[in-house]
Amino acid sequence: MNPQRAHAGIYLHIPFCRAKCDYCGFYSIPVDGMPRAESRALLARYVQRLVREMKLRAPSLDGRGADTLYLGGGTPSLLSPEMVERLIENAQRELGLLPHAEITIECNPEDFSPARTGEYRDAGVNRVVLGVQAFREVERRVIGRRARLAGIEVLHSFMDVPGIAHCMDYIAGAPGMDRVRAGEDARLLLELRPEHISAYMLTLEKGTPLAARLATSYELERTQREAFESVMDILEAGGYDHYEVSNFSLPGFESRHNLKYWRFMPYLGAGASAHSFLGGERCYNAQTVEEYLADEGVTLVRDERSWNAAAVELIMTGIRLSTGVAASYFREVLGREIPGEMLRTLGALEDEGLVLIDREGPDFRVRLTREGFFRSDEVAFRATEPLL
Ligand code: SF4
Repeated sequence: MNPQRAHAGIYLHIPFCRAKCDYCGFYSIPVDGMPRAESRALLARYVQRLVREMKLRAPSLDGRGADTLYLGGGTPSLLSPEMVERLIENAQRELGLLPHAEITIECNPEDFSPARTGEYRDAGVNRVVLGVQAFREVERRVIGRRARLAGIEVLHSFMDVPGIAHCMDYIAGAPGMDRVRAGEDARLLLELRPEHISAYMLTLEKGTPLAARLATSYELERTQREAFESVMDILEAGGYDHYEVSNFSLPGFESRHNLKYWRFMPYLGAGASAHSFLGGERCYNAQTVEEYLADEGVTLVRDERSWNAAAVELIMTGIRLSTGVAASYFREVLGREIPGEMLRTLGALEDEGLVLIDREGPDFRVRLTREGFFRSDEVAFRATEPLL
């Protein structure tokens, strides 16, 4: 079946945070400085607006139904369990969210309690992503992570909440973190054993306070790589499948929602600045929260991209998966073969030991080597450069 005919994913964007973290380049509105009544009213209006958008955009799903719902941000755990329940019910009613759907919420450690997580579960959530990012206070301070983690016991109590898949986000390679410290973190993750772990290398996003106070250097890059390598080795040896450059899961617990992005499958994104990919077309909501709330209808910008741009994106995202990209999949999704100039570059990358090209009968599959995993951005850029 053409991947574009598959069930869709639904992404609901919640662009509010308690306070801005120094390393974060995403658009979000900090609410901690607002009077409490004002921030609650703002969130309630935003949820109401999301409900309306879901209703208005129902026809665009074309009756295909949806098998994942992801509440991302921002900080979706600023929403009450009642608000989350309302959004899920509306997604079921308006967008055909299926009974067995994967339903994820990102949760800030500051908002976490076992009781609240249980309430999210009772509202329909079955996957909770806890944004741990750093275990030690010193690292949280270095990167400017605002959320506090009130002791490792919090993580154990998170793991004790039944009836959900437990997921943790972690940043490897904060300045000052060497492979020994990163190894300690990875062993702690193994002990906790969440079903899913996203481990990112810290990136210095232009325009952020962190990038302003920290210069990148060869030394920083080297220690970051060593830290990430240590995490990767320990998690893989501990039974985690390293299924995407930054993602590890116990068998059967891959993020079904995020796989849709990497595999070019359809998704509907609702909320200020959310992106969608439906019927082979991309569009996005270019509005700020203020504009979004003031709009009664749906204002989407179509992203008119060339075939070359789509080919670049398919390779750039697909190659991040441990299964890589098959030539037959490329043809199925984009209707043409991988261009010759791209094949020649992939051959050169294979000669350099950065990708493997596995022959599978008349088909072949391109995937990263271990070295390629560490240099995935470079590989993706070089592989697609002939089409840029
Ligand atoms: S909580 Fe997350 S989205 Fe919000 S500022 Fe911090 S890193 Fe960015």
